[in-house]
Amino acid sequence: MNKPTVAIVGRPNVGKSTIFNRIVGERISIVEDVPGVTRDRIYSSAEWLNHDFNMIDTGGIDIGDEPILEQIKAQAEVAIDEADVIIFMTNGREGVTDADEYVAKMLYKTKKPVVLAVNKIDNFEQRDFMYDFYSLGFGDPFPISGSHGLGLGDLLDEVANHFPHMEEEIIEDDVIRFCLIGRPNVGKSSLVNAIVGEERAIVSDVAGTTTDATDTPYEYEGQKYKIIDTAGMRKKGKVYEKTEKYSVLRALRAIERSDVVLIVLNAEEGIREQDKRIAGYAEEAGKGLMFVVNKWDAIEKETNTMDNFTKEIRKHFMFLDYAPILYVSAKTGRRVTDLFEMIRLISDNHALRIQSSVLNEVIEDSIARNPAPQEKGKRLRIYYTTQVATKPPTFVVFVNDPNIMHFSYVRFLKNRLRESFGFEGTPIRIITRERS
Ligand code: GDP
Ligand code: GDP
Repeated sequence: MNKPTVAIVGRPNVGKSTIFNRIVGERISIVEDVPGVTRDRIYSSAEWLNHDFNMIDTGGIDIGDEPILEQIKAQAEVAIDEADVIIFMTNGREGVTDADEYVAKMLYKTKKPVVLAVNKIDNFEQRDFMYDFYSLGFGDPFPISGSHGLGLGDLLDEVANHFPHMEEEIIEDDVIRFCLIGRPNVGKSSLVNAIVGEERAIVSDVAGTTTDATDTPYEYEGQKYKIIDTAGMRKKGKVYEKTEKYSVLRALRAIERSDVVLIVLNAEEGIREQDKRIAGYAEEAGKGLMFVVNKWDAIEKETNTMDNFTKEIRKHFMFLDYAPILYVSAKTGRRVTDLFEMIRLISDNHALRIQSSVLNEVIEDSIARNPAPQEKGKRLRIYYTTQVATKPPTFVVFVNDPNIMHFSYVRFLKNRLRESFGFEGTPIRIITRERS
């Protein structure tokens, strides 16, 4: 799926994150259930009328203790590099400031469309405040109020007018798309190099747009793959590339376009909080998943070293107990080709469709062995189960009353499905519906 990306830029306190949250709406709360996902999201999908797009709040990317203008500069650079349309946000109450002019100068350099928004115009009388902003040279300013939700429709109409014609991304059925995500320096680019060879990795490293240009095709034992680009594989030498928020942003964009996500960990450094957050995003996106522990060459090994590391991973990523783990070294090339067998298996499981009769036999057998306990004085009855989607496999269970389906019983059914059908490396989803 190829969606346009909209970025919001502007000096601090003009209301960027307020507007971001308004536009992406309740999506934010959906992800809060996933362990490790932080509240302060700066990237999300959004909808306006019949347009689907992605949004970036560049205000969330901070580059440490740098002076304010350096921060603003980095944020504008992210917008220019990552977005298809830029919303330049200002504060109508304060008029045009030096910092606004600084942002404007940065944005003059881009050919991408810029839509000027004047925020904090909370009522009609305040509309006169916006005339000042013509001086910035971005045409008609759009008056909005983040706190009251005013003017957002007109602003988004204008933004949507500038959406580029997105080439329908051709998803070839016979190609498995995967990406490597992980903290900076875990060895993602080294792994890609180890897979495809230094030269080809360099050739694929064209400074392209947000789409296909930097993906790397690869074929192994008759199966076609595409390695989806992430941060660190396309280094441009900008300061913002080192920030955590930016690497997460790039990871999310790569996850979206992949079938299988390789979560790369650094054997030397163990597991960090950020690893969990990144893994949480991949699980939430419903992608096939595996762990790749890199730099295994650099570890002093005793009898139980691998078992202990595996235990550590299982302890920290309890919600990903279905994801296989592979220990590799990009440096020596050890076990790197084993990745492909694993990716292929996960991709098959991710796309697996179970015959209805077999599925219902397994569910009926599970209920017979372990009937659902009574909830609120009522017993759950399960009538019928059907698989409604693949990637990831998604099942709808029709019951007498969805309110008494306890999450622990859902977990039990999921475990039974895994025992019966495998599903190694893929999340599975169960939705309960009332039989009508
Ligand atoms: P950011 O730094 O640009 O992301 O700005 P925030 O979204 O954090 O907003 C800065 C402050 O402005 C907060 O106190 C908001 O509540 C306030 N704010 C945001 N939008 C509006 C608005 O439309 N009207 C008014 N009066 N205040 C607003
Ligand atoms: P990225 O930021 O995740 O793309 O990480 P890089 O591929 O740039 O690697 C970061 C550093 O780790 C570099 O200095 C690599 O040489 C080193 N490195 C990568 N893979 C391995 C490995 O398997 N073993 C060892 N010992 N070092 C590695």
